[in-house]
Amino acid sequence: LVHRMRPFGTTIFAEMSALATRTGAVNLGQGFPDTDGPAEMLAAAAAALADGHNQYPPGPGIPALRSAVADHQRRFWGLDYEPDGEVLITAGATEAIAAAILALCEPGDEVICFEPYYDSYAASVALAGAVRRPVTLRPTDDGGFGFDPDELRAAFGPRTRLVLLNSPHNPTGKVFTAGELALIAGLCREHDVYAVTDEVYEHLVFTDASGPHIPLATLPGMRERTLRVSSAGKTFSCTGWKIGWASGPRALVSAVLRVKQFLTFVNGAPLQPAVAVALALPDSYFEEFRAGLQARRDRLTAGLADAGFAVLRSEGTYFVTADITALGGDDGVEFCRSLPARCGVVAVPTQVFYDDADAGRRLVRFAFCKRPEVLDEAVRRLRAS
Ligand code: PMP
Ligand code: GLN
Repeated sequence: LVHRMRPFGTTIFAEMSALATRTGAVNLGQGFPDTDGPAEMLAAAAAALADGHNQYPPGPGIPALRSAVADHQRRFWGLDYEPDGEVLITAGATEAIAAAILALCEPGDEVICFEPYYDSYAASVALAGAVRRPVTLRPTDDGGFGFDPDELRAAFGPRTRLVLLNSPHNPTGKVFTAGELALIAGLCREHDVYAVTDEVYEHLVFTDASGPHIPLATLPGMRERTLRVSSAGKTFSCTGWKIGWASGPRALVSAVLRVKQFLTFVNGAPLQPAVAVALALPDSYFEEFRAGLQARRDRLTAGLADAGFAVLRSEGTYFVTADITALGGDDGVEFCRSLPARCGVVAVPTQVFYDDADAGRRLVRFAFCKRPEVLDEAVRRLRAS
C-alpha cells in the first residue's frame, strides 16, 4: 500500500456496522434510513431496468437527470445552472468530491475543511498529494457547535487551493449560519480560492434551527468559484444507489468530468431516470421528508437526555451528538466499542473525524434516520444500561 494511504484503515462506518451485525445491536451508527424512498422513484427505476436502460449512459449523465438537477436547484435555491455543461452526474457525492480534489489540487496544495470532517475528505486530499488544513468545530456554551474566526483566517495562506465546506454538517448536525457563510465566502474571495460544497443534507435543515439552508454559491462572488455537490442518497432515502451530482461554472465542471471519466467513466444507468423523477416531486414531498426527520431528531434527543447523556443541538442532517462525560465516559472510541456488549446499541465516536482527537474525545454520534420503534428500542436499552 502506498505511503499516503497508510493512515487510512477500514472506515469507521464499516467497522461499526459489522459490529452491529455481529452482536445483533440496534445500529444507530452508520447513517442510512431503514425505510425506502418515494414509490414513484422506485417504480421508475424498475421500469427503466425493464425498458433496457442498462448500457453506458452519456459521460456527464443522462440529459433528463441533468435537467432535473438544474430545475431542482432553481426551484429551491434560486441557482441557475445550464444542464449542458454546468451539471455533471457522479457516483454519489463521494466521487464528485474526490474527483474535484483530484482535478483541482496539485501536490502540496492545501484544502481547508472544518473538523470533525466526513471521513472521505481526508483520504481524497491524501490521494491528490494535497494537505488538509482543519479548522476545529467545538461545542459552544449554547449547546451547538462553533469555530474561532481567527483560526479560520489563519488557515488561509499562499498554498490554499480550496475550501471544502459541508453544511448541514456531518457528524455534528451543525448548520452554518448566514454570518459564518459570509465570513467563509469573504475569505474565499480575498484569497481567490475555490469552494467545494457538500450539500447532501440540503433538505434536512430543521425549522427551529439557524434558518434555512443557504448554498454558499448564492453569496456574492461565489457562484463563479464554487462547485456545489449533492446526491440522491439522503433526500430520497436511497443511500445504496450512489447517484450524485456536481454543478458549477463550466470550467470547474469540465475539470471534474476529466477525472471522473477515468474513475468510474459513468454510473447508475437505470437509476438516473428514477432520480430525475424524484427531483421533480412536489414541494410537499420535501416538506414531509424534513418534518419526518425533525420528529425523529426530537424523539432521539429526548431519549438520549433521558438516558443521562448531555445532548448537543442537532440543527440538521441525520445525526445528533451526545457528550458521554455525565455517564462516566472519557473516551468515545472505547465507549462505542463496548456499547454493543453493554447494552446492544451501536453509535459512532466523533473523535475519529477530528485530527485534534482531544476536541472530540467525549463526543458520540447517533443516527436518527430510523423508524420510531427502532429509536425507542435503542433508548430503552441505553436507559437500562
Ligand atoms: N458527504 C457527507 C457529509 C455524507 O454524510 C455522505 C454520506 N452519505 C456523503 C458525502 C456521501 O454521499 P454519497 O453516498 O452520495 O456518496
Ligand atoms: N454518510 C454515512 C454516515 O456518515 C455513511 C457513509 C458510509 O458508510 N461511507 O454515517
